Amino acid sequence: MLLIIENKLPKFNKKMNQLTNQTFRKAAHELVDWMADFLENVENLPTKSQVKPKDIYNQLPEMPPQESEAMATVFEDFKSIILPGITHWQSPNFFAYFPANSSYPSVLAEMLMSTLGAQCMIWETSPAAAELEEKVMNWLKEMMNLPRNWEGVIQDTASTATLCALLTAREKASQFQINETGFEAQKYRIYCSSQCHSSIDKAVKIAGFGVENLVKVAVNDDLTINAKALEIAVESDIKNGFHPLFVMLALGTTSTIALDAVRPVGEICEKHQIWLHLDAAYAGSALILPEYQDMIDGIEMADSFVFNPHKWLFTNFDCTAYFVKDVDALLNTFTILPEYLKTQTRGQVNDYRDWGVPLGRRFRALKLWFVIRNFGVKGLQEKLRFHIELAKKLETEIELHNDFENVFPRSLNGVFFRYKPEKITDLKILNQLNEQLLNRLNQSGELYLSHTKINGIYLIRMIIAQTNVEQRHIDKAWAEICQAVIYLDTTDLSK
Ligand code: PLP
Repeated sequence: MLLIIENKLPKFNKKMNQLTNQTFRKAAHELVDWMADFLENVENLPTKSQVKPKDIYNQLPEMPPQESEAMATVFEDFKSIILPGITHWQSPNFFAYFPANSSYPSVLAEMLMSTLGAQCMIWETSPAAAELEEKVMNWLKEMMNLPRNWEGVIQDTASTATLCALLTAREKASQFQINETGFEAQKYRIYCSSQCHSSIDKAVKIAGFGVENLVKVAVNDDLTINAKALEIAVESDIKNGFHPLFVMLALGTTSTIALDAVRPVGEICEKHQIWLHLDAAYAGSALILPEYQDMIDGIEMADSFVFNPHKWLFTNFDCTAYFVKDVDALLNTFTILPEYLKTQTRGQVNDYRDWGVPLGRRFRALKLWFVIRNFGVKGLQEKLRFHIELAKKLETEIELHNDFENVFPRSLNGVFFRYKPEKITDLKILNQLNEQLLNRLNQSGELYLSHTKINGIYLIRMIIAQTNVEQRHIDKAWAEICQAVIYLDTTDLSK
């Protein structure tokens, strides 16, 4: 009888090419060798991918394979088809945007994370993930001198953290009624400077306020928020029947790393009971340096703070650290408890699914833990100071060059310059030349820079923050920049 049942059990016929534990081991060893070679040589690859739209897409078959393919074949295609379409964020010649850095300990942790494949939505689904997260968030508070009575949680991106802050502020102000009954009227106002990151615009849309209620406040000459202008806007809104709800400051704007002063705005927010959110997505890492603590003078008046270890703290994307003063308000905003998620440990532990938008969560704390332990706080501080020193030196080179100028002063490890020969004064022509210069440099593959436009001036941003950048990479980049202007085409420039 038993024999008959056994014969009826479904059998899984593994296909020849599918990995087994044994062949996985071999493939993984080979892959790790490739990874180490890649990281050793990435600086010799074109920094910005040189492919044209659809180049990659058109090389891929229309239909998925029906039969199992050997890993070796897939990996060959990865090298020949996919890799040319990758922009190398881990190249020390990458100076564009803000970095998305990795480092050896972070990569190792990512490998372990995917091996464990843990989904860390609640404490019970991986207690170590929840408890390590709680601990590393506390470590960050110590490292950055953030208020010790705030609580931290890892989010995927700063955009999500800012959305969480806005939703929490909305719920707190409405005694948690909007979650229940929705909006009655568009009466709330949200404020930030004209230089703040677009993630606030997105958050305002998603949270249901409407971008019409996002007030973009004027900036000072150094591109920091003008606190007086903010105060006037808030008071005028109150007179007109609006409810000022939320102010976001940029501790490091995206264009030029301008650092909004917290204290004067904190005083306005305290006076009018407005939630104050600090977006330190990029520059927040600098707080591990005691000499940059001025950046958060007045933080006790703020309500929330976000920064991205995945930008300038050598931890692979994605990893955002979000800190909040009133954790109960956060939990009241996001907690939802269907029967299937009830556990016996509820209330004794942190179930991080209640601390943000998604239910499912990756084990991101692991990579942060690996990074902090393997670098050590001193090692991290040394790297950051080194990057800032490299930027200072480049700023001086630019200053000394007759044909270039620093359009805005360096901030931390960012320089903001343009080609500006004495004989050319027309803004439009200068903008065209600088755009041409940037494109020429990026098309060379030798380095990757990005740009911004401030007060009509097109300028080149160079952010010196890649994990393995050295003086020689800056020297090479500067030589490339100086050389490239010789080849600028001035024939077609129109006024
Ligand atoms: N805030 C600032 C100041 C940024 O520069 C950026 C991105 O560069 C963000 C927020 C958004 O970051 P994320 O990609 O983590 O959402």
